[in-house]
Amino acid sequence: MEDTEDMEEREGLGELDARLTDCRACPRLVDWREEVARTKRAAFADQEYWGRPVPGFGPHDASLLIIGLAPAAHGANRTGRMFTGDRSGDVLYRAMYDVGLASRPTAESADDGLTLHGTRITSPVHCAPPANKPTPEERDTCRPWLVGELRLLAPRLRAVIVLGAFGWQAALPAFAEAGWTVPRPRPTFGHGARVTLDGGAAPLDLFGCFHVSQRNTFTGRLTPEMLRDVLRDAASAAGLRPDGPAEGAGAGGAS
Ligand code: SF4
Repeated sequence: MEDTEDMEEREGLGELDARLTDCRACPRLVDWREEVARTKRAAFADQEYWGRPVPGFGPHDASLLIIGLAPAAHGANRTGRMFTGDRSGDVLYRAMYDVGLASRPTAESADDGLTLHGTRITSPVHCAPPANKPTPEERDTCRPWLVGELRLLAPRLRAVIVLGAFGWQAALPAFAEAGWTVPRPRPTFGHGARVTLDGGAAPLDLFGCFHVSQRNTFTGRLTPEMLRDVLRDAASAAGLRPDGPAEGAGAGGAS
């Protein structure tokens, strides 16, 4: 049974997510996300696009957080759920399933039944940007949402994976604002980078991982094995014990 603290955290995060979906603070991104939702890609012409800020996905008591970059125009901006409905998500969720962090290896729509084990996924910019490139000003405008999410997750949060240099640069100030101590000079991003941030409710293990973008995965810069290794290390640091496809996840084990 949930205790009072549990309930407050869940309701707090639910409230934050609900408020986020109404945000219109970045005029360029509001225009873009809504224009994409109107014009659509031909393959999805019969679908209703989400066309709004995309909230974090995963349990309110997650001990592991994955931070990406921003929603994809025809992925999360269409489906309304992080990394859902695009090639980057195919790679990420497949790897999460392989190490036991996701209940299924694919993510097609917000109502496909996918659940995450002890893990939440979010991004430093919550609206789809043109060419996948938010401006520094948009990144900074969106930071309070990430800070708010980190504060609500802080009591249970023990590890974070940041996908790519943009997310790393965006997340470090957010960790500092949320109560952790970020070393000076700031730690440098790299695949396999690992830094422990003190302060906050408990120390936080921060892991760097190349982004799951097609540019990285198609060229082999980021292989499924590299991604699984980071996920396993971070899950272990977060006190999760995933060692294969999540229970009840059906066929399709580690590859
Ligand atoms: S990017 Fe963030 S701050 Fe800007 S409109 Fe979207 S949710 Fe609001």
